[in-house]
Amino acid sequence: MNCSELNSLSQKMETWDPERILLWAAERFSPRLVVTCSFGGAGTVLAHFISRHQLPVPILFVDTGFHFAQTLQFRRELASHWGLTVIEVRAEESVAEQERRLGPKLYERDPDLCCRLRKVEPLARALNDLDVAAWAAALRRDQSPARRNIQILEFHEVPPGRRLVKIHPLANWTREDVWRYIHRHGLPYHPLLDEGYTSIGCWPCTQPVRPGDPERSGRWPGLDKTECGLHTFSRRILPPEPGM
Ligand code: SF4
Repeated sequence: MNCSELNSLSQKMETWDPERILLWAAERFSPRLVVTCSFGGAGTVLAHFISRHQLPVPILFVDTGFHFAQTLQFRRELASHWGLTVIEVRAEESVAEQERRLGPKLYERDPDLCCRLRKVEPLARALNDLDVAAWAAALRRDQSPARRNIQILEFHEVPPGRRLVKIHPLANWTREDVWRYIHRHGLPYHPLLDEGYTSIGCWPCTQPVRPGDPERSGRWPGLDKTECGLHTFSRRILPPEPGM
């Protein structure tokens, strides 16, 4: 499938149910399809699709060493209850080793470097080591301005040169759609979502928000930073303009 064909299929998928999109992806790409999930929100919906169709699709969980204890416990319980295959992706250095080398609280002094070392580089390495051809994630357009233009299917290049299809089955869902699905199916969800957190990442960089505040405003509060880099480090390859 070339870039233009992928783009056309992506447009067609705008009318598809997200579950159908993930089923298509599993059919098309397994065993080289992975889903990334931090178990903090909409990723639970993708994990539920995998579980209820018993898809042979592993979940990559980027364990930064800074997750809330509740996240780790919820991930363990859900994986066991739903029979999920979770691959933990970690930095080569532990937090203690990183602190010996670069000093304490790098997340305060240089959060971009901290995210690169603890999230981006480990995920890029895993995508290459696992020979991944397609990567699905639970991004939605309504989450933030930075995510407003995501497509359901995108071609990406992951350093140092791997090309893969990035899939966003929930791109056109809203936060309300996610909660509707969770309630309709009686799904368990991350306990901090009941304590004012609307987007859950590492504990040093995540705060609860006030009702009505933007969903991701509790991430890196007080900083311009809005993304950790997991969804911006790969280069999106765009189809050529007609006539070029
Ligand atoms: S979110 Fe914060 S603690 Fe987690 S990797 Fe990024 S800077 Fe470090």
